[in-house]
Amino acid sequence: MSDFNWCHGPSCHKSHTVDRVRGVKGSKVLRTRKVKISNWNRDSFYSKFCSNSCYNEFANKYVNEITAIAPRTECLETPIHDPKKETHTHDYSWGRHSYTNTKIEVDETRQR
Ligand SMILES: [Zn+2]
Repeated sequence: MSDFNWCHGPSCHKSHTVDRVRGVKGSKVLRTRKVKISNWNRDSFYSKFCSNSCYNEFANKYVNEITAIAPRTECLETPIHDPKKETHTHDYSWGRHSYTNTKIEVDETRQR
């Protein structure tokens, strides 16, 4: 079993970086990068792609095929309690400052 994958980025071999240059004088090429498999990347897309941009290019090119693996044909919902607005006020030497945020909590009793 090999300890690397070739990067799956559709145009990895077109990026102008010196680490991709291979071959002898007169017949140089830009080559797809190897991605070394490690314990860190073994079970993630980082074992198949050399960079986020290569991953993004792949995902954009094959978005329909990828989403066909697990189609989302209807929305999902997470039950929550009625959101509560909370106003926080602080007194500073230069005056009073307040802000409001909305607390959203999952309703565990309605979890499916
Ligand atoms: Zn790449």
